Amino acid sequence: MLHDVGKLTIADIRRLYSEERVRPAEVLESYLNRIEEKDPAIGAFLHIFKEKAIEEAETLDIALMESKPLFGVPIALKDNICTKGKPTTCASRILEGYVPPYDATVVERLKEAGAVIIGKTNMDEFAMGSSTENSAFQLTHNPWDTDYAPGGSSGGSAAAVAAGMVPVALGSDTGGSIRQPASLCGVVGMKGTYGRVSRYGLVAFASSFDQIGPIGKNVRDTAFLMDVVSGHDPHDSTSIQESHSSLVEALEEEIGDLTFSVPRGFRDLDLSPSVREALGETVEYLRNSGREVREVELPDLEAAMACYYILADAEASSNLARYDGVRYGYRHRADSLIEMYEKTRGEGFGEEVKRRILTGTYVLSSGYYDEYYSRAQKVRAMIIEDFRRVFSEVDVVITPTSPTPAFKLGEKVDNPIAMYLSDIFTTTANIAGIPAISIPARLSPEGLPIGIQVMAGLKEERKMIRAAYALEKEFDFQSKVSGPEVG
Ligand code: GLN
Repeated sequence: MLHDVGKLTIADIRRLYSEERVRPAEVLESYLNRIEEKDPAIGAFLHIFKEKAIEEAETLDIALMESKPLFGVPIALKDNICTKGKPTTCASRILEGYVPPYDATVVERLKEAGAVIIGKTNMDEFAMGSSTENSAFQLTHNPWDTDYAPGGSSGGSAAAVAAGMVPVALGSDTGGSIRQPASLCGVVGMKGTYGRVSRYGLVAFASSFDQIGPIGKNVRDTAFLMDVVSGHDPHDSTSIQESHSSLVEALEEEIGDLTFSVPRGFRDLDLSPSVREALGETVEYLRNSGREVREVELPDLEAAMACYYILADAEASSNLARYDGVRYGYRHRADSLIEMYEKTRGEGFGEEVKRRILTGTYVLSSGYYDEYYSRAQKVRAMIIEDFRRVFSEVDVVITPTSPTPAFKLGEKVDNPIAMYLSDIFTTTANIAGIPAISIPARLSPEGLPIGIQVMAGLKEERKMIRAAYALEKEFDFQSKVSGPEVG
């Protein structure tokens, strides 16, 4: 048994195994104990697969360690990633009791790589939200201060990593749902280029935006996990054909040749003072180390937000039509078919999901289609073009991940627009399909983490990861900051 697994990285765990100091079942048990101790105050997990995980860990053969990059590494998955024979609820009543008959491609890859799936994490229902408060089942608390939200929608995964209950986790990002909770919980979260990671087995929210991605304590672990889960998958027709080139190897490269940039007029952006300072410090550090930091014209962020919420809701209204009480999960038994549909959906979906379905149906309806859906598609094309222009001039763009540090639980639940604004810096990467990562930079005066986002051009994850790694060294967050209260 290990007493302090909370701070272990993937490399630390591999070292322990290669020195034959511990067995996978002991490492797993230590994490399970930590979950038992910490999770009652955090609420990160919806399901824990204790027996199954112990069984899996016990069958791992140390002789195979070299060929298995995640040998004996416990991992948590957001509960919208299908796991064969194990519940996958999307934190929704409508999928309560649903057990998928297949594994998502990422889950197959994790298993092949020797990872042990420890459990599934809480999220906003169907990944719609920015605080994890839209879960139908429970609240998740921010490990840095349990009065605060962990962000969302992958709040359970980010909080689990921040509190050291797992070394790494997977989340999904449709408009910022990996990066924003990573930022609010003081961990690293990344989404790749659209198509980099297979969506096969990810329960669809907005298919032209959705991507699965890693959350870890540092850039290296995140890159390591990304290397395992990414790559072409014939089951996902939108997955990128070419092979994925290693991000971990890219960490060894110097950043001498990279051109950095920030949004023009970044000092005037509408940000919390401590977030503004963190961005200012980042620019100062880069300039002090002799780098030019250009100012670039980013797409209009408010127009991008509107574009995102129109298109994502439109896609959601179509994707969620399948929950009709016939094939999946919850069914309200009624006398007529129509009543069964109505009651099933009325009782099975939460408020926010209904709001999205209604909005999505409205923007797609004849008479409004041109005014909303088709206009938002045009805005999307313009944003893609804007980024193409930006990345023909510079290699990376740096922004805050979120305009504020974590907000209190309950603070924004009754104000959807305020909640949506949490994503002002993250949605553009999904609209344009480009890679983006959030890394923790510093703490706010209240002791809450602040993340900085690095974006790069299409398929330029290697540039993004090198820039993020250099900034991570400069921020030195992990060694300067003692860690979350509950961690
Ligand atoms: N917060 C955004 C939304 O509610 C993004 C969600 C996500 O990335 N899954 O749509």
